[in-house]
Amino acid sequence: MDTSYLVSLNILSNFISMKNVAVFPGSFDPFTKGHECIIKKALCLFDEIIIGIGQNTTKKYYFDITVRQQHIKSIFRDEKKVKVLEFNGLTVEFCKSIGAKFIVRGLRDSKDFGYERSIAQMNHEISGIESVFFMTVPEYTAINSTIVREIHKSGGSIEIFVTNSAQLVK
Ligand code: ADP
Repeated sequence: MDTSYLVSLNILSNFISMKNVAVFPGSFDPFTKGHECIIKKALCLFDEIIIGIGQNTTKKYYFDITVRQQHIKSIFRDEKKVKVLEFNGLTVEFCKSIGAKFIVRGLRDSKDFGYERSIAQMNHEISGIESVFFMTVPEYTAINSTIVREIHKSGGSIEIFVTNSAQLVK
């Protein structure tokens, strides 16, 4: 069944309601248990979270966009407050287009913080959109999509780092 009209209706209602909507943007190549942990923490604060898979035309991805999208959807199949969309261009423009007032990002360490702080400040300067940060739990601090990809490329198992990893077929 084509559910795209339901998503459009939902976006429209975000504009006219006072719902607290946040976007969690990223490449999610692939979406790991670290990302999942950030969403679970953010669900306590927001009425709706849109996981925005950013498509940068100059970047090459390991997992196809459709595979990444279906994989993330499978993880949040039973969570009505989470939606998965793809977008091109600036994250803040995507936020405005769907009526989201916040950006959610995850932090593993001080290196993430330094990088995220610059992006958050510049995003705020150009759009007024605030970023909200959540620390990952200690057991997921080491999880990194780049390393997960390398393990997968070499034929290793990634299931301890990625929920529903069987959905990620190349
Ligand atoms: P991007 O290409 O935008 O960095 P990523 O998919 O790598 O996209 O990451 C998206 C967000 O998830 C970023 O805020 C990143 O810091 C965070 N993140 C990545 N891995 C983890 C993890 N293991 N625990 C918590 N947050 C994480």
